[in-house]
Amino acid sequence: MSDESFPFEIGNFGCIAVSDGTFAYPDHSFFVNAPKERLEQILREHNIQPGEITIPWTCLLINTGQHRVLVDTGGGAGVPSAGKLLRNLQAEGIEPLDIDTVILTHGHPDHIGGNTDAKGKPAFPNARYVMWKDEWEFWTSEPDLAQLQSAEEFKQIMLMVARKNLPPIQGQLDLVDRETEILPGIQAIAVPGHTPGHMALAISSGSEQLLYISDAVLHPIHLEQPDWYPGFDLVPEQAMATRRRLLDRVAAEKVLVIASHFPFPGLGHVIQKGEAWQWQPIETMG
Ligand SMILES: [Zn+2]
Repeated sequence: MSDESFPFEIGNFGCIAVSDGTFAYPDHSFFVNAPKERLEQILREHNIQPGEITIPWTCLLINTGQHRVLVDTGGGAGVPSAGKLLRNLQAEGIEPLDIDTVILTHGHPDHIGGNTDAKGKPAFPNARYVMWKDEWEFWTSEPDLAQLQSAEEFKQIMLMVARKNLPPIQGQLDLVDRETEILPGIQAIAVPGHTPGHMALAISSGSEQLLYISDAVLHPIHLEQPDWYPGFDLVPEQAMATRRRLLDRVAAEKVLVIASHFPFPGLGHVIQKGEAWQWQPIETMG
């Protein structure tokens, strides 16, 4: 086992949290409406030096016994600090041809950038790719990112990566438009706001459940400061309402959560704390 993959089980499902790498962002881009001094104080409380924050990009492999499912494809080639998904899957004995289902939680570069290979062909030729219908339509029809509070440079990258990585998978695409079961034990959940058709997944086998929340919460600090939002949420008010609903649910149900950008492997529980929440990562060392 390397520190770039983390195998675990949900009932009879074999799961692996697989790192695609990391990316360094300006800290304020994750908390665009946070007062500067308060943000710096809270970052220090989390042992983060204010300035840049380095965030993991984590994908999930699920072996249901019947299906090998990949959730999100990472950043792909062209991001020096990421694009390690395929190599890390291969280290676990999983080849691209083995994957029969790729679920794309949303159309951001760190989740779809590995959809295609160097020739622009689908990187998972045997897979059906699954995405929420509104999400596909948004990114494949001249998306309007004017209201997004992130740097222009990030917006251009989003548009470029979507243009490169979505049209080639159209022939292998299944769209969902309701909270349906994508495969037995893997249910789509609508979590709009970060993007129009942002999708979470409830993964269950036997009596165990895992909630893949993707980017509904980007950083553990958002649990403690639920009114702070990242510049990557397209509709912040909607994203905050979605976030509160989701956090209430996972705290009440004490369900195991995996978040794409929390410290690797991104697995843990959400605990209610006063009017807010707190992240409790699982123990990953003996
Ligand atoms: Zn993301």
